[in-house]
Amino acid sequence: MAVATYKMYIDGKWGSSNSGETYTRVNPANYNQVLGRFQQGNKEDVNKAVDAAEDAFEKWRNVPPPKRGEILLRVAQLLKEHKEELARTMTREMGKVLMETRGDVQEAIDTCELMAGEGRRLFGRTTTSELRDKFAMTVRLPLGVVACITPWNFPIAIPAWKITAALICGNTVVFKPSSDTPICATKFIEILEKAGVPKGVVNMVTGPGGTVGTHLVKHKKVRAVSFTGHKDTGAQILKDAGIGKKIGLEMGSKNPIIIMDDADLELALDGVVWGAFGTCGQRCTAASRVIVHKKVKEKFQRMLIERAKKLRMGDGLHPKTDVGPLVNKAAQEKVAKYIELGKNEGAKLSYGGKVPKLKGWFVEPTIFTGASPDMKIFQDEIFGPVTSLTEARNLDHAIELANAVEYGLSSSIYTSNIQNAMKAIKYLEYGLTYVNSSTIGSEVHLPFGGTKASGSGHKEVGWTGIEFFTDEKTVYIDYSGKLQRAQIDIE
Ligand code: NDP
Repeated sequence: MAVATYKMYIDGKWGSSNSGETYTRVNPANYNQVLGRFQQGNKEDVNKAVDAAEDAFEKWRNVPPPKRGEILLRVAQLLKEHKEELARTMTREMGKVLMETRGDVQEAIDTCELMAGEGRRLFGRTTTSELRDKFAMTVRLPLGVVACITPWNFPIAIPAWKITAALICGNTVVFKPSSDTPICATKFIEILEKAGVPKGVVNMVTGPGGTVGTHLVKHKKVRAVSFTGHKDTGAQILKDAGIGKKIGLEMGSKNPIIIMDDADLELALDGVVWGAFGTCGQRCTAASRVIVHKKVKEKFQRMLIERAKKLRMGDGLHPKTDVGPLVNKAAQEKVAKYIELGKNEGAKLSYGGKVPKLKGWFVEPTIFTGASPDMKIFQDEIFGPVTSLTEARNLDHAIELANAVEYGLSSSIYTSNIQNAMKAIKYLEYGLTYVNSSTIGSEVHLPFGGTKASGSGHKEVGWTGIEFFTDEKTVYIDYSGKLQRAQIDIE
């Protein structure tokens, strides 16, 4: 079958990279299936895209926000119409099962609807002044050209989070999608174009993070970088960006589920299986650690292993598949390496751990027990279907174990005791805490983001998405007709 060649999108036109080069990508569930040829962008492409975004900014910022919102509502409508086809494309491109890729598209729909409504809000504040006949307020202004750099694991939802928030605020965008999911990125941009986003307002440059991403981050005309991806990449972006840019980083984590002795264990089991093995463990919010009260540890461990045995691994397009493949060969090798490391470090491999001989990048759902804070499998983000159990003496010990990592994105506690729940909410050093629910399941109208090495302090979506993509300017209007000096001319 002929392999399709995909283009980049700059200034409202689909075209080839200035480099003249392309790269290919295969289906992770069947690496003999080539999915397409994609443009290997370079510095010149980035310069063209930034110039186009800069040229489009003045006109776009003057479109009334509710009108911008109307375009986003059309995007939502088109996503609804194409939901099934987009979900299937996504499963083929990055592997997660159909139920989850449908959820990914739904998250983009929800985000578009939310951000469309924000067009009628974009609230500033009004307040009092310490001086007479003086008015004080803040207004939200767009930043200008912003860069959106995204990973492959939520290949439509995360671009939608960033791009729709940027657009409703009046910014223009240069989008650099993950090199692993250029088809989803292209489909999303096609929908934005069809919905009526004017030329130059959104531009997409595909190609390697080390060239396209780096040049975009360093570019003098870029006013903000919104990035989601690995913490090492985030650290590099901080170094490259220099001063004068707003930098939003959403990075990895090592998320714990605490299970207390008073928990509903069946409910906790559902949450652990979903959190640890959903998306084949390739979520920034994956439940990669389970911290269990000593009184229920043996029982819960048995329950978890029994349930894991029932999980069916395979192509995510197959309706019976529970766990799809990893995204690429490097990911498979990394996960296999961590499984070996876990065994060598002295944790017990209680279930799974094998790399099956299939034509895709699969690893069996894997459970370690007896993991402790001195082990890499307790500390490092593995980003695969691997979770580990650690025993806790009591709630204080469980919280101490939960916090004993450098990350801080998502956490969860299963308990029937409100005091335990409230204590966990207070002391877990994480951007998200779920009570009696897994570590995954955020909703787009609430802030999303982590503390410690998981984030840079700016949160995404909800009202915080609007905060990131605007400058909240402070305005004083003095109508007294005379010079009034703050802190001096006070009675
Ligand atoms: P990467 O950091 O490898 O890549 C993310 C994006 O950054 C890609 O578009 C990549 O391009 C680009 N990039 C790579 N190097 C640079 C650079 N030097 N400068 C600018 N851009 C660059 O992450 P993955 O795509 O592998 O995603 C997995 C990671 O993302 C995990 O750590 C996961 O936890 C995290 N993540 C965090 C989320 C959160 O909200 N906290 C949500 C989802 C994932 P290219 O693909 O071409 O290399």
